[in-house]
Amino acid sequence: MPGERPHPDGLAAGRGEVFQLLRDGRPRTRAELSAETGLARSTIAERIDTLLAKGLLRSADKAGSTGGRPPATFTFNPQARVVLAADIGATHATVALTDLTGDVLAAEEKKVDLAVGPRAVLGYVVETGTALVERTGRAAADLLGIGVGLPGPVEHSTGKPVIPPIMPGWDGFDVKNHLGERLGVLTLVDNDVNLMALGEHKAYWPDEPNMMFVKVATGIGSGLISDGRLHRGSAGSAGDMGHVQLPHGADVPCSCGNLGCLEAVASGSAIAARLSAAGITAETSSDVVALARAGSVDAVQQIRQAGRDIGEVLATAVSLFNPSVIVIGGSLSQAGEHLIAGVREVVYRRSLPLATTELRIVQSRAGNQAGVIGAATMVIDHALSPFGLDALLER
Ligand SMILES: [Zn+2]
Repeated sequence: MPGERPHPDGLAAGRGEVFQLLRDGRPRTRAELSAETGLARSTIAERIDTLLAKGLLRSADKAGSTGGRPPATFTFNPQARVVLAADIGATHATVALTDLTGDVLAAEEKKVDLAVGPRAVLGYVVETGTALVERTGRAAADLLGIGVGLPGPVEHSTGKPVIPPIMPGWDGFDVKNHLGERLGVLTLVDNDVNLMALGEHKAYWPDEPNMMFVKVATGIGSGLISDGRLHRGSAGSAGDMGHVQLPHGADVPCSCGNLGCLEAVASGSAIAARLSAAGITAETSSDVVALARAGSVDAVQQIRQAGRDIGEVLATAVSLFNPSVIVIGGSLSQAGEHLIAGVREVVYRRSLPLATTELRIVQSRAGNQAGVIGAATMVIDHALSPFGLDALLER
């Protein structure tokens, strides 16, 4: 066709291209889409018809406008499908239903014991997920997929947990196939902190391409957003900063079998153990936060020191990765400014000016929804990518 730019991936990618532009939510006319993609008007018309038929686009024309008829405009329809998201933590599981922008439509949280094994925990996810779909009045056929976050190392290509320290009975369990068979939809699995990074980025920092999310709770981990994308590394373990050795943490044993890991010194459980040893009752990260809020000087001092320890490891990460935002999340971050103040103290002192002039170190804004927003985002980005969209349109 004259004027139509040849596309390396053929027609299918062209179809994806029109859709990818419209995913930003801004309505466009056929002429605008043609100008932005370089595709012929007739090609644009065909793509739009296909996407309208599948409900992925809708007309954005204002009803009742007067004067000359304006050209028809089209926009992304985030209600076309729904996505299930499960954030399985060390002590709690949250199951949520979202639209195609990752906005949470309904959610349920429950205490779980991971030691009951994958079949029972995932059974709860399927049951709750199915109930949420029904409760929001959606049909089972509207379900695009399910994203799951697990609190341990996950091999992303297979979705299998790999020797997860706090998940007895889960090592190598095929979470992806198990859920895929029960729900009959696309299933993707990742480490919970990676998904929290993805969720926080999607919801609050979409314009910052280089971001680091640090979760400080029972354990410590981080997720990296590099050039706008989640950086998983070659096997999926990128960002696992909890097991970096601290110089002064030398003789503290860690659940991973090594000595002196950051997590063994600065996590919520490590602080709770030290407070208990000093005669102050605390078992979990949340107990530590409650003590700090009640004005316990010991708890506040411990949290601030944990912030400094985390800052030591983060200063190295800042030098290597140069993020513009570090978001601190997880239950221990609920202790107000004490943790972040400790982190800032060390990171700004230990890093070079070029790395820190633009660097912001802030508290998580997505809070306990970061994980489910991220799990949904993982599924949406996969299913609505040019290649994923092709499969969706052919169904
Ligand atoms: Zn360790």
